[in-house]
Amino acid sequence: MTTKHDLALYQGLEGEALVASLSRDYGNRLALVSSFGAESVVLLHMAACVDQAIPVIFLDTGKHFWQTGYYRAKIADLLGLKDVRVVKPEPRDVALVDPLGDLSATDPDACCDIRKMRPLQRALDGFDAVLSGRKRYHGDGRDRLADVSIDGDGRVKGEPLAAYDAHAIANYLKRHDLPPHPLVEQGYFLIGCADCTQRGGSADNPRAGRWAGHDKTECGIHTSADGRLVRNQRDGV
Ligand code: SF4
Repeated sequence: MTTKHDLALYQGLEGEALVASLSRDYGNRLALVSSFGAESVVLLHMAACVDQAIPVIFLDTGKHFWQTGYYRAKIADLLGLKDVRVVKPEPRDVALVDPLGDLSATDPDACCDIRKMRPLQRALDGFDAVLSGRKRYHGDGRDRLADVSIDGDGRVKGEPLAAYDAHAIANYLKRHDLPPHPLVEQGYFLIGCADCTQRGGSADNPRAGRWAGHDKTECGIHTSADGRLVRNQRDGV
């Protein structure tokens, strides 16, 4: 990727203002990656307010709760999203690496690799900027998250919700009357693949329900090419 990026253009921007600026500068080379999980609708709503045609990439690992598929369709319809791309793993990868479908229990990194990382790399080919919904309050290394950074593949990565906490998320949902993921009322705080998501988590420990019993805290789609968390531009590291 050879595109030159000027991150100073986005200094001090967050939320919808950051989405709007990246959309203005990158046009159809900007994509949004969404899990359609518990908090996802906030960023999706911001994107739809800017441009309903921003491509939205959903990684369909084949391991999601059925309720997530239902919710994805409902939110896409409600917000008028025009370009939701459901991206699946290569059947050949799954057949070769996880023929029994139980890899998430024994080697979740390898499972995320074939079901998330490789499909996302293919899906983002041709995009120069990407939006994600990570937040500093989630911890697990996200507390130093930059609002805008360059990812391991040389793309601009915008994090419009980096400064949002559980209270700000709840306020946004209420203000815009946005429907929650159906599993929220069943006690799920964050929602990913069913194999790796348990009930639980809270505003104080939001990621407690993800990959319980494993050291794993990230699926890998937010790490740089050399395996580190994307560095915080503010920290100058
Ligand atoms: S989150 Fe779990 S089930 Fe989903 S791809 Fe990663 S290891 Fe596999």
